[in-house]
Amino acid sequence: MPKTTTAYVRNIIRRGLIELVDPSPDKDDVTLVWTHFDSSCAYCGRALRRDAREGRIDHSRASSQGGPNAIGNRVLACGPCNDDEKLDQHWESFLRVKVEADDVFEARRKRILEWQTRNPLADETRHQELTSAAMQKAAEVIKVFDEKVRELGLLMRETR
Ligand SMILES: [Zn+2]
Repeated sequence: MPKTTTAYVRNIIRRGLIELVDPSPDKDDVTLVWTHFDSSCAYCGRALRRDAREGRIDHSRASSQGGPNAIGNRVLACGPCNDDEKLDQHWESFLRVKVEADDVFEARRKRILEWQTRNPLADETRHQELTSAAMQKAAEVIKVFDEKVRELGLLMRETR
């Protein structure tokens, strides 16, 4: 299968328009996340090596739950916590599951709350309006894209 398929391009259009209204953290922001969480998973505490790509910049509130990409909604997490375990769970209930000792739970919870306070999120209603507008615009662009791909298909057949 070719690397650039029509499905791939549609995905790029969607992701690109969402990124414009809800940008992901840049490299400097990612460094701030690593520093604040002291190169360890915000949930299970596992030590992480950035150069070995062990860390994930997790959405503390999942995108599927309306969580923005902004840095205030991100924490440093290990692969297993981010990829396999937390999924759409609220960060605080997930942390409670991961940590038995109350003092450790409180310390990690405090560290996440400090991060969120230091990096306040934009207005939630505005975020939702912009995100759904971007998705609507993406659907319109994709409709035109599909038309052009069909035209191109006809053209290629005609010139053969
Ligand atoms: Zn972890």
